[in-house]
Amino acid sequence: MKMLKQFFSGIYNLILGLLVTGKHLGRHAITLQYPKERWPMPERSRGVVVLLSDPETGELNCTACLLCMKACPTAAILIEREKNPETKKWEATKFVIDNTICCFCGMCEEACSFDAIKLAGKYEFSVYDQSELIYDRDYLAEIGRDVPYTPTVKKKPAAKKPAAKPKPEGDKASAKEAKKPESEKDDTPAKAAENTKAPAKTDEKAKSDKDKSKTQTAPDKADSDQPAKPEKNEKKSKEDSET
Ligand code: SF4
Ligand code: SF4
Repeated sequence: MKMLKQFFSGIYNLILGLLVTGKHLGRHAITLQYPKERWPMPERSRGVVVLLSDPETGELNCTACLLCMKACPTAAILIEREKNPETKKWEATKFVIDNTICCFCGMCEEACSFDAIKLAGKYEFSVYDQSELIYDRDYLAEIGRDVPYTPTVKKKPAAKKPAAKPKPEGDKASAKEAKKPESEKDDTPAKAAENTKAPAKTDEKAKSDKDKSKTQTAPDKADSDQPAKPEKNEKKSKEDSET
């Protein structure tokens, strides 16, 4: 009885296996031709840590704030920074991640406020020498160039010059006058006043000239009235008498 039970159970399992095989006979193979083909990694998968760059300028988004280094629980990140004397901003002179002690926890990505560090869905970083698992800044930037990300940091727009305030009509007119050449500025009130004064001055000048001419001519007339020549004649007669 026990043998019969095992016999039928074996046939049942055989048919069940053949059914599963028959079910997949008309389908494409699930096998992936690795390494020619690769599965796309899930969006939030945690692979190797990379540094992200600005897709337009290619510059690293990292501002060397050191937050990721402080947040890392395994001290896998080492950053050295310097202040750029021109831009007055911190720049990472050294950015090293030791993948031999990184546990891919994602704390560095969460701590970063500048979309600068990310756990990309990349893998296949096996090496024979452990020292090759220590990535420097350039290599981290290189493997992060093709990593897509959604920027969350709003960039500051370039400082715009304040728009010139519209001037009142009077100011516009004065501005136009100011632009005029000197010869055309006769209509200004000050100039007009000068112009009105100018004839008075000329009248006064003419008067004074007339007076002067009078004063110059008066002595001549007086001289003509006075007996000048007789004096000279008297002197001459005196000199003659003395001789
Ligand atoms: S993933 Fe975790 S362990 Fe690795 S560098 Fe970032 S914070 Fe450190
Ligand atoms: S990667 Fe982010 S958190 Fe780390 S130093 Fe750069 S800006 Fe700061």
